[in-house]
Amino acid sequence: MKGEKYLFVVSGPSGTGKDTVVAALLKKHPEIQHTVSATTRTPREGEKDGINYHFMSVADFEDNLAHDQIVEHTKYCENYYGTLRSEIEGRMKLGIPVILVIEVEGAGNIKKMYPGATTIFVLPPDMQELERRLRCRGTEDEETIQRRLKRAEAEIANSVNYDEHVVNIEVDSCAESIYSIIQFKLQHGSDE
Ligand code: 5GP
Repeated sequence: MKGEKYLFVVSGPSGTGKDTVVAALLKKHPEIQHTVSATTRTPREGEKDGINYHFMSVADFEDNLAHDQIVEHTKYCENYYGTLRSEIEGRMKLGIPVILVIEVEGAGNIKKMYPGATTIFVLPPDMQELERRLRCRGTEDEETIQRRLKRAEAEIANSVNYDEHVVNIEVDSCAESIYSIIQFKLQHGSDE
C-alpha cells in the first residue's frame, strides 16, 4: 500500500524503557505522530479515553473486528488490544510518519500486512540492567518479574526478525537513534 514507508513499529521487552524513549522522541520531533490503540481493559487512574487508549466494550471491539476496522490485535491478560485502521492509513496517505508501540506479535502482523513498514526493537543494555529496571518500578511482585524476564529473553532471541535494533543505554540518545532510522527511511525508502 502507498505510504508504508511512513509506518514505524517499536517493540521491546517489558522494562526496556520503550515508552519513555518514544515519548522523548515525540516531544522533540512533533512532526512524528503516535497511534492510540483500542483496548477492552479498564482505564487506570489518570488515563484518558482517546489519549492513552480508545477504551471500548468487548462488543464494540468485536464489532470493529468484524467490520475489518482493526488491522492487528492480540489478547493480553484477558483483554483485547488492537490498532485501528483509522489510526494509520489516513496518515500513511498524507505522508505523516506514524509510530506504533506494540508487543512483538502485533509488530509481526503489521510487517506482514505492510511490508514497507520499519520495525524497530529496543534492547536493554544487558539482562542485569533489565532486571534492575523492572525491580525499580516497584509495581510487580517477584513472580511477575520472573515471568517478564523469561518472556524478555524469548523476545530478544526472536528479535532478529526486526529491521532495526537500538540499545536504550540513555533515553535521549536512544530516541535520536530511532529518529535517525526514521529520517533515513523517509529520505531513501520507496513510496510504494
Ligand atoms: P498495558 O495494559 O500495560 O497498557 O498494555 C499491555 C500490552 O499491550 C503492552 O505490551 C502493549 O505494548 C500492548 N499493546 C498496546 N496496544 C497494543 C496494540 O494496539 N496492539 C498490540 N498487539 N499490542 C498492544
